[in-house]
Amino acid sequence: MTSPVPVVIHHDARHTITAAAGRAAPLETGGLLLGWWDSDRVIVRSAVEVVDPAASGTSWIRRENLAQQALDRAIATLGHPWMGYVGDWHSHPAACEASPQDIRSIRNASRAYAQPLLLIVHRYDGVLDIRAARRGRSHTVLEVTG
Ligand SMILES: [Zn+2]
Repeated sequence: MTSPVPVVIHHDARHTITAAAGRAAPLETGGLLLGWWDSDRVIVRSAVEVVDPAASGTSWIRRENLAQQALDRAIATLGHPWMGYVGDWHSHPAACEASPQDIRSIRNASRAYAQPLLLIVHRYDGVLDIRAARRGRSHTVLEVTG
């Protein structure tokens, strides 16, 4: 069994995700989670939206060049010395939680990192479905306050 990954979601990140999901509905949208790792915890300080021009009600794809631009811009703006990519988020306007493909893609992405990556799915009911993966394996998440 794998141990839960403690996660802190800052208010700013939650707000950005909720506002972007609301604007985009009934289409999906998504983006990057920015923050840092603090010993075993993942701190999500901020989220940025990366618009997929081809998004539908059931699909949002991270366009790598747009994602890189968004990441560079956010890091320059936020100016936090530890700030970096800690995962992805996207919205599900349809009534479904993180899909098997969502979980597979964050597991695959996590193989390139020593620390856990997160996936946040903003569900149709406004709940944030938070998943973690570390070195290719799924982990449960324990949400803690900063
Ligand atoms: Zn999804």
